[in-house]
Amino acid sequence: MREIVIRGAEVVVTMDGARRELKGADVLVRGGVIAAVGEGIGSAGEVVSARGCVVTPGLVNTHHHLYQSLTRAVPGGQDALLFGWLTTLYPIWAKMGPEEIRVSALTGLAELALSGCTLTSDHLYLFPNGARLEDTIAAAGEIGLRFHPTRGAMSIGESAGGLPPDSLVEREEAILNDCIRVIDAFHDPRPGAMVRVGVAPCSPFSVSRGLMRDAALLARDKGVMLHTHLAENDEDIAYSLAQFGCRPGQYAEDLGWTGDDVWHAHCVKLDTAEIDLFARSRTGVAHCPCSNCRLGSGIAPVRAMRDAGVRVALGVDGSASNDAGNLIAEARQAMLLQRVQNGADAMSAREALEIATLGGAQVLGRHDCGSLAPGKRADIAVWDVSGLEAAGAWDPVAALLLAGPSRVKHLFVEGRQVVRDGRLTTLDLPRVIEAQTRLARALAG
Ligand SMILES: [Zn+2]
Repeated sequence: MREIVIRGAEVVVTMDGARRELKGADVLVRGGVIAAVGEGIGSAGEVVSARGCVVTPGLVNTHHHLYQSLTRAVPGGQDALLFGWLTTLYPIWAKMGPEEIRVSALTGLAELALSGCTLTSDHLYLFPNGARLEDTIAAAGEIGLRFHPTRGAMSIGESAGGLPPDSLVEREEAILNDCIRVIDAFHDPRPGAMVRVGVAPCSPFSVSRGLMRDAALLARDKGVMLHTHLAENDEDIAYSLAQFGCRPGQYAEDLGWTGDDVWHAHCVKLDTAEIDLFARSRTGVAHCPCSNCRLGSGIAPVRAMRDAGVRVALGVDGSASNDAGNLIAEARQAMLLQRVQNGADAMSAREALEIATLGGAQVLGRHDCGSLAPGKRADIAVWDVSGLEAAGAWDPVAALLLAGPSRVKHLFVEGRQVVRDGRLTTLDLPRVIEAQTRLARALAG
């Protein structure tokens, strides 16, 4: 079997059970799996030098809307709160089709890969003009990232009192049927899987209670995970109280949306009782700090969640509300934001890095990923800390978040090198950027 040895790292951050950091260590990869981690490992295979580098598990992104990379910095949405931002963007998104979905996914995935991400989920909840979930799955296959696409949906349009235009909503029966179709076609439950599909109605304010309940029943029947947006800002809480007569935590619990097979994006406004509910039920959270800042939603109580035992992961969220998709920068933002709220000792660089790696893998149910230990999948990020950004840093691991760099030198997914010397090996990036620019101009025109 093919072997690669990543040789002589400044530090290997294992994220193993003891959170060991190994100076001058090597990582041996055999096939798609980590075979050994330690000093002086012999191998006849390919040698990749990690001199001057910090080696970490690949970062894990647990919330994204890849299609939104075509609507970055849209003027009418730049300074709006969530609901106003959505109503500005819906008509633009309605003009997209399969080509837009595929190219925007390639763009978003390229950004993620270059910022250290090896495993990402995606939340696609609109399928205009013939677009399908497999348009994004094809893009992830092309670039070579491990991918957890979720089949999103909206079913309550404007005429029924919902937020999205009627042209972007689907019939609930058709939604459930397509969930079954994509799970049967693409979901791989085996260890080492490159694609796992989830079920993800967009949010409590764009689908019915019935669809939320049926989606949970379907996901459990199929053994796949559940994902949605929850408690994102004050408008979201007000909507829940007015429409459902309860807070989002209660709504989620009543409809089967708690458990270790569920993760909710944002959760900025969870109260103490809801944090306790999430901890008890092992429900996961995708924390999206940049998006929360950009939309003025608030600061998610991540410190309180982690202290209570809630499983927290990181998400860049879509590029219409970030508007970048840089995952290591997102980890830095998570660290900084907790400090704004709770003081300088509220979150260390190492804790933020743990949330971005192991935390994400755990929330996505990937116990085969998220740490560098024998038997785990070979998803590995190699960061050059010998350059300008981290020059002279006393602690290269902390420097990754406190200073930089914000792009990887090398990236391996399932033992395959996706980034080499800062360049994608699988994609002609200038061509993707050219196609992305052309499509964005057409949407604007
Ligand atoms: Zn989102």
